[in-house]
Parts: sequence; C-alpha cells; structure tokens
Amino acid sequence: MSTYRDFTAPIGSRRATALRTVGTRERRSLLTAPRVPTVGIDIGGTKVMAGVVDADGNILEKVRTETPDKSKSPKVVEDTIAELVLDLSDRHDVHAVGIGAAGWVDADRNRVLFAPHLSWRNEPLRDRLSGRLSVPVLVDNDANTAAWAEWRFGAGRGEDHLVMITLGTGIGGAILEDGQVKRGKYGVAGEFGHMQVVPGGHRCPCGNRGCWEQYSSGNALVREARELAAADSPVAYGIIEHVKGNVSDITGPMITELAREGDAMCIELLQDIGQWLGVGIANLAAALDPSWLSVGRPGSRPPTTC
Ligand SMILES: [Zn+2]
Repeated sequence: MSTYRDFTAPIGSRRATALRTVGTRERRSLLTAPRVPTVGIDIGGTKVMAGVVDADGNILEKVRTETPDKSKSPKVVEDTIAELVLDLSDRHDVHAVGIGAAGWVDADRNRVLFAPHLSWRNEPLRDRLSGRLSVPVLVDNDANTAAWAEWRFGAGRGEDHLVMITLGTGIGGAILEDGQVKRGKYGVAGEFGHMQVVPGGHRCPCGNRGCWEQYSSGNALVREARELAAADSPVAYGIIEHVKGNVSDITGPMITELAREGDAMCIELLQDIGQWLGVGIANLAAALDPSWLSVGRPGSRPPTTC
C-alpha cells in the first residue's frame, strides 16, 4: 500500500517540507489559525468518513469509504485514512487532521488502546499518521470529538457543563466542563454504555452483565426483535414475513421503518429502548448535574437534545 508521500504530488511535497521546518509553537498556531482548513475523520465499525472543515465548522467536502475488515491489520485502516486525506488534499489546502475513533484513546491522545470493531490494540495512531502525513494529527475518542463539536458549533454551544451520549450500535459518551473533555486517569471516562443498570442482566461484550447499552442501543433493539422472531411469537409475524423467515436479516433500521408503518411489536421495542434511555440519562443527571445533555448518533446526523 502506498503512503501519503508516495501519492503526494509536488505541491504536497512542498507543503510537507515546509511543515517539517516549523517548530512546535508554529504548528500549534496553525491549528488555531482562523481560516485554516482541516480534515476531520470519523472511524466507525462500518465506515470511515472524512470531511474538510473550515474554522467556523462548515463542512466544505465529505468523502467516505467502508471500514476495512476487522481481521485486517491496523495498517490497512491507517492506509485508508491516509488515502482519504490525500484525496481531499488534492482539492483543499489541508493543514491538520483530527481523528475520532470508536475506541479507547489514552490520556496522551496518541494510542488507541482498544477498539471493539477494529483490530487496534494499543496502537500509536497519532504518531504513525503524523509521521506519514507530515501535518499535525490529533486523535480522540469519537464521543469526545462529537461532544466538543456540539459545544463549539452545535446546540450546546458554550454550555459550561455539557454531557453527550452517542447512541448507535452501543452507547458512547463524553463529559465537557468549560469546553474541556474530562478524561479520567487513563483517558477512558464517559463509557456510559457500560454502567450496570440490571445486575445479572444480559451479557455484554465488555465481559460484564447488565450494561446500559445492552438495553438501550441498536444492538439491544435487534437482539430483542430476533429473539421474538426466533421464538415464532405471534407478535413477530409482521417482521418474520418481512425477512421471509430469515431472522438474522433483521436490522435496526428495518425495525424503525416497520414501527413507522405501525407494526405493534416494533413500536413496543422502540418504547422499551426509550424507557431504558431515560433510566440511564436520569442516572447521569444525578451523578453529573449537567447544564446540557445531547443525544447524538456517532459520526452521522446532528444530535437531538433533551
Ligand atoms: Zn458492557
């Protein structure tokens, strides 16, 4: 696989040379300069999205690709990121790259300690990519980046105690005080999805039982629908017919769509998810006393706020 420099046209090479000659202070000033385009990367379990963003948070261009298979080496994902940055650099004068990764990022924001959907284990992503791209690279957990964007540009702009929940296949989260992400000792604070809400409840991939995300997430929705369908429950006849008996074909978006069409089981499953969401949010409110709480989807649409 080629590297960024292999791909880079003469313009990129000149920029790389220029960036290598500036000191740390000047590089920092590039990050805070008022009109410098940067690339934001979101690495999820199924897709990698990249967008060029200006200093006002406007997205100038977006590109996306499938996340390489999790069995492949971390370098394959790294190559994918480099290619996306290169592609955007052809059309924009990119000066820095920020990466939101669905995983645990260490307190130094260099290593991805663990990513459940990727093969990263203690991977020094920032150092590897900044070496290849020759521009400053920042790495953080995707919920932290979503929360900061919400605080900087979104509905929670300027809120001094902002809590963010990212609701997707699991539940991520972040805590911001005065625009600063609260990271905890090892950098992994905000893993709200693994708060235990049902002692002895459903097993979670984290190894524990009864985690919040086992009751209020896309995975929970699909698990419940498949269980009912597999048991040939009369309430599931609608969705069984929809997938022609192939229970494993049931997906979260399908359940949502059927609920919109009036399917009683799908409506009830979504109501259950909503109730459990309320339980967890009430616990977060009691523990963290936020001035603002946003619920968003990781790496996609703007969040809704409650
Ligand atoms: Zn868990």
